Amino acid sequence: MAGNFYLVRCGDCENEQVVFGKASSDVACAVCGTTLARPTGGNAEIDHEVIETVERRSAGSPTDGETVEQ
Ligand SMILES: [Zn+2]
Repeated sequence: MAGNFYLVRCGDCENEQVVFGKASSDVACAVCGTTLARPTGGNAEIDHEVIETVERRSAGSPTDGETVEQ
């Protein structure tokens, strides 16, 4: 199973940024540079508000999300 992504809001500047749930290194805010998530060996520890969980399909093209499955 592929890891999830999280939409995280930076508590310092309110930038919203997608963070990989199993990040293997520190994830810094693209705007102000504060650390949004830290690796723990498993799921990353996210220090800021998680707005939304973005599930990623394990097999599929980037356009899959726009296709309505019957
Ligand atoms: Zn920030």
